[in-house]
Amino acid sequence: PIRFPPDPRGDDRPPDFVLVLIEDLTERRRVERMRADFVANASHELRTPLAAVSGFIETLQGPARNDPVARERFLAVMHEQAGRMKRLIDDLLSLSRVEMRAHLRPDTVVDLADLLPHVLDLVRAAAEGAGVVVTLEGCEAPVPVIGDREELIQVFCNLVENAIKYGSEGGRVVVAVSGAAEDARRRTVAVRDFGAGIDPVHLPRLTERFYRAHAEAGREKRGTGLGLAIVKHIVTRHGGRLTIDSKPGQGSTFAVRLDVAPAAAGSAKGDENSG
Ligand code: ADP
Repeated sequence: PIRFPPDPRGDDRPPDFVLVLIEDLTERRRVERMRADFVANASHELRTPLAAVSGFIETLQGPARNDPVARERFLAVMHEQAGRMKRLIDDLLSLSRVEMRAHLRPDTVVDLADLLPHVLDLVRAAAEGAGVVVTLEGCEAPVPVIGDREELIQVFCNLVENAIKYGSEGGRVVVAVSGAAEDARRRTVAVRDFGAGIDPVHLPRLTERFYRAHAEAGREKRGTGLGLAIVKHIVTRHGGRLTIDSKPGQGSTFAVRLDVAPAAAGSAKGDENSG
């Protein structure tokens, strides 16, 4: 029970700060509501592929028992749906991991000139599958920033995979590091595609969990709607900034700004003079 200090007015009326408590409860209710929505969304997203897998198992045990053609087809669908569940669970775990570390600022130094080519290796199969050429610019010299290597790999993998997925098929994706000339303390990594772009109405909600802008057309594009929520969380934990710039019909640019490692920021001027 909350005990109020004795009231100077001489009665038991609670003092004015009760109002603050009410506002606090409103905020707590909002957070609880968000958590409940999140659990409901996650359960729904998992239930759909699980229901499909259960259904196909029943069909294989019954009517399709002796039909080898149907069996192959159903197994392929079940494999696909199991993959969908795995991606969703992987993304949910990633999201919860970054949320748990939200209050910790990374303090290690990561060289983008080493990390970004590694990201391009990781997405190579996806790019080749879509006939997309991914190029890297601005990484000729070391680009040391403060960050968590694994988390930054995840950020740039998600952004480049999206650029491949939603960019134009057979097109190109450009990953470019810039910013040394404008501000020696920061660098920006821009991931640019030349695809259909995003309708401006979707932009403010794009980093919300489970939000997908291409709801219908995107259904056949594999995705969980969690990728950009994870990106946003990681970038925020890094004290960085994510900006999205998109023109329908022309393509999109997702840019991440990060802090340069202090020693490197101090010598950046010298680097510029010598370069
Ligand atoms: P998903 O798993 O659906 O790709 P994300 O959180 O990564 O989820 O992205 C959310 C939505 O933002 C996508 O469903 C898509 O509609 C839109 N989107 C993301 N990247 C791009 C892009 N490069 N071009 C166009 N739309 C994009």
